[in-house]
Amino acid sequence: MRFNPKARLDTSRVGDGGGGGGGGGPMRIPLPGGTRAGGGIGGLIIIILFIILTQCMGGGGSTPTPDGGTSSGTDTSRMDDTERYANCQTGADANTDEDCARVGVENSLVAYWEKALPEQANAQFNPASMKTFSGAVQTGCGQASSQVGPFYCPPDQKIYLDTTFFDDVLEGQLGGQGGDFVEPYVLAHEYGHHIQNLLGTMGQVRTQKGPESDAVRLELQADCYAGMWTKDASDGDSLLEGLDEGDINEAVDSAKTVGDDRIQQKSGQGVDPEGWTHGSSEQRMAWFMKGYTDGTLEACDTFSASEL
Ligand SMILES: [Zn+2]
Repeated sequence: MRFNPKARLDTSRVGDGGGGGGGGGPMRIPLPGGTRAGGGIGGLIIIILFIILTQCMGGGGSTPTPDGGTSSGTDTSRMDDTERYANCQTGADANTDEDCARVGVENSLVAYWEKALPEQANAQFNPASMKTFSGAVQTGCGQASSQVGPFYCPPDQKIYLDTTFFDDVLEGQLGGQGGDFVEPYVLAHEYGHHIQNLLGTMGQVRTQKGPESDAVRLELQADCYAGMWTKDASDGDSLLEGLDEGDINEAVDSAKTVGDDRIQQKSGQGVDPEGWTHGSSEQRMAWFMKGYTDGTLEACDTFSASEL
């Protein structure tokens, strides 16, 4: 992945904050099997549960608080601290700095969907915003901790991520191969959830678990949408000079890494499709590739697909 060094970056939607981190912030989700950050099985299970929880809240009146519910640590009314991204001005910055690369990817996702959504769905596009944090963060979906993994919160239309997730969980616990296109794949997947939110797709989710469930269909569709953007980006856009085969392989490997069957295996459980919420490794790779190959919302209609 390489950015056009002269392209200007727009940091206006990307913020950082909620770093109640280290000293045992106010909210700590207890992990059944461990006390270290990202501790083993517990961490993985929480990641999955939280993502589902937040996605199903749709219109979002009441917001669940995972544990106990004081909100003393972080303050949502405060504007995001954008200092982390203050130096991200051009594509050249994105080529040398991971934080700036995140901004570049966000800019590219916005540029893609603001064109594709009206064209393909006759729908209006509004950008999501993105917030990085460490430790704990207060969101429109309740308080989240680092163990949660990246997620999209529909009520505030924000993507949240603790960037240690990529090293600690995706490569560490789950054994993904890593690479600089891992995070763009995850961001594009989360952006896919934002598109689903704009299109009202989240309201179609009735069944939460199982290989044919609506939850799995929603997740595979987000992978497919990630593939759509990747295809467009691979030819280059105003920001990206293009992607190479290594980038695509990294995305596919990441889709494989977060498959439910693999997570179950890595957690030492047997593979049980009845517990699936995101789809198998095979399915996640396949739907990402479908989006990448076909490049249309229509091709990504997992809800009408007879076979996933
Ligand atoms: Zn998802």
